[in-house]
Amino acid sequence: MIVTKFGGSSLADAEHFKKVKDILAMDPERKFVVPSAPGKRGPGDDKITDLLYAAHRAASEGKTFQHLLERIRARYEEIASELHVDMDFAPEFSEIEKNLKTGATPDYAASRGEYLNGKLLSKYIGIPFVDAAEVVRFSADGRLMEEETNAIMGERLTNMRRAVVPGFYGADAEGNIHTFSRGGSDVSGALVARAVNADVYENWTDVTGFRMADPRIVPDAQYISTLTYRELRELSYMGATVLHEDAVFPVRKAGIPTNIRNTNDPKHPGTMIRANAGQNDLAHVITGIAGHKGFSIVSVEKDMMNAELGFGRRVLQAFEEYGISFEHLPTGIDTMCVVVHEKELEPHKEQVLARIRELCDPDTITVSDHLALIATVGRGMVRNFGTAARLFTAISAQGISIRTIDQGSSELNIIVGVDEDDFETAVKAIYDTFVRM
Ligand code: ASP
Repeated sequence: MIVTKFGGSSLADAEHFKKVKDILAMDPERKFVVPSAPGKRGPGDDKITDLLYAAHRAASEGKTFQHLLERIRARYEEIASELHVDMDFAPEFSEIEKNLKTGATPDYAASRGEYLNGKLLSKYIGIPFVDAAEVVRFSADGRLMEEETNAIMGERLTNMRRAVVPGFYGADAEGNIHTFSRGGSDVSGALVARAVNADVYENWTDVTGFRMADPRIVPDAQYISTLTYRELRELSYMGATVLHEDAVFPVRKAGIPTNIRNTNDPKHPGTMIRANAGQNDLAHVITGIAGHKGFSIVSVEKDMMNAELGFGRRVLQAFEEYGISFEHLPTGIDTMCVVVHEKELEPHKEQVLARIRELCDPDTITVSDHLALIATVGRGMVRNFGTAARLFTAISAQGISIRTIDQGSSELNIIVGVDEDDFETAVKAIYDTFVRM
């Protein structure tokens, strides 16, 4: 049995609703459906969720917001009328208006996008609607209670043959609505997949899967056919965004694969993400490349640092005191480098350096800004001799100097730091070496 989640662009207008219906009809195993709110129909268009947040903001500032609700309602009515679905949105919208006037939360406002879309889709495809507020449980302070959700949802859904459960929100024990962070319908879909013990969690979107590199840098980057959850974690941590990062945990735990699919190209198998994947299906040594700009390296040097107990802890303490989390820690015998996000360091830079001096009495501290990190990820790298050498050669052949190197002990990921200006060239060089040659 399959759980399908459709993103906002896959439900942006009536045409897309029809595609969704066809996709469901193509495989009778597709029994549970998790929709997002209607997204953009094209550049310059609005996402329903953004309009709902805007309506909430206006209402809470005492400004008129009714025109925004009108626009939202018009979008739903247009979809319904083109699909010949007879649905009266008036009572729903007068309730939303009343609630916004009386201090409803932003989470409540935003959740109405998925709620209404779920109702509309349910009517259109003839599959019963289950309100996420009844089956996705949050704590009063807005954190997902995953095990409770799994129990409540499991009990409710396994008795049903099919259901539409809107994404993005749930409720606490008092019935107050809470949402996930933006893009969170992915998480809802994963929760439903776990609760009904699906064979596959299909995540339908407007791209054909993960690519081996960012297409803005490598326009013809190949699609990745199989990815492990660990590889996904490494790639998304470094900037590959197709799936909400919290969507991995429920399905990974339950051993359910996630399949990224394209609503506009339903025959394409997309990217399959599994707990374990062999080496046989690997077309290349590496699985993917991801990275981004905006890092700083703080290098702390002190003779005989290696013999000083607690040195590393004290360096990190200085960062922790200013709420800065570190990304990587490449260390030498007498140097310790702390890689952090530049925008987190910037406001406290002088204080952090002063604190390191106070706590560690180092010989020198240097800071280099404008660094980009590039992660080259792949389960095939362990088996292949000389991957690191090929990677470094590819970058240095472009005349780019590598500022820092970090290889996790898993051998799944080699991270290099280069100047921001060299970022795109370095990514292209790595891609060319491992994929084109
Ligand atoms: N509609 C919500 C958003 O725009 C959630 C989602 O689409 O996953 O973030």
